[in-house]
Amino acid sequence: MPRQPKYRRIVLKISGEALAGAAGFGIDPIVVDSIARQIKDVQQLGVQVAVVVGGGNIWRGQSGSQKGMDRATADYMGMLATVINALALMDALEKHGVVVRVQTAIEMKEVAEPFIRRRAITHLEKGRVVIFAAGNGNPYFSTDTTAALRAAEIEADVMLKATKEAGVYDMDPRTHPEAKKLDEIHYIDVLKENLRVMDATATSLCMDNNIPIVVFNLNTYGNILKVVLGEPIGTYVGGDNRAERDPE
Ligand code: UDP
Repeated sequence: MPRQPKYRRIVLKISGEALAGAAGFGIDPIVVDSIARQIKDVQQLGVQVAVVVGGGNIWRGQSGSQKGMDRATADYMGMLATVINALALMDALEKHGVVVRVQTAIEMKEVAEPFIRRRAITHLEKGRVVIFAAGNGNPYFSTDTTAALRAAEIEADVMLKATKEAGVYDMDPRTHPEAKKLDEIHYIDVLKENLRVMDATATSLCMDNNIPIVVFNLNTYGNILKVVLGEPIGTYVGGDNRAERDPE
């Protein structure tokens, strides 16, 4: 029996760090290739895939401003870093025969399309993978917030937040070995307990727009597909209603 995806349209958030692999900075082509293959597997199920890439493997605005740079300038540098990552992912996807469009929130027409919401939706409907780059075009925001915003704009069913951890824990697993991974949690509790999922702006944007978030480990090959097939991978962040998770 063919496997039925749980979601029709997804936004996958990939941090810059994830593209860096073990080095922790720059771009590891082997890691990018692995992510591209996993995206292709999901796309071949008929799922519409939009990706938001971060830039932390190259530059983070906050670190620049901590070293004395103007914050907005440092943030624009961060947004440009995400475009570099987007092109690397585009290249890897195209090598696997996936049709891709990169859309940037800061216009650079020689490199990519500008972000046009309706056009992005058309691409998705035609089975193209859309990569959203340059964040949302504004300093003082993150690519997590961008992913939440784009998910709302394109009416995605879910936001998949790829991380290095298995999901959301009740305590910081790096400092508390006894920390337990949660299978499910309400947005409000993530905000109240200040759990390390993503920034509060991104979480509240998802909450306000009823977009569930699945936090999962990207380092395990095949996890994106498993999440899309509804397997209980990672942590599901959502509202009260369990029916939301299991519509049948
Ligand atoms: N950024 C921004 N506005 C946005 C998105 C990103 O100014 O809408 C900048 C910000 O400086 C950030 C950097 O781009 O530090 C890289 O993005 P992010 O830190 O979200 O990347 P990730 O942590 O996912 O690799």
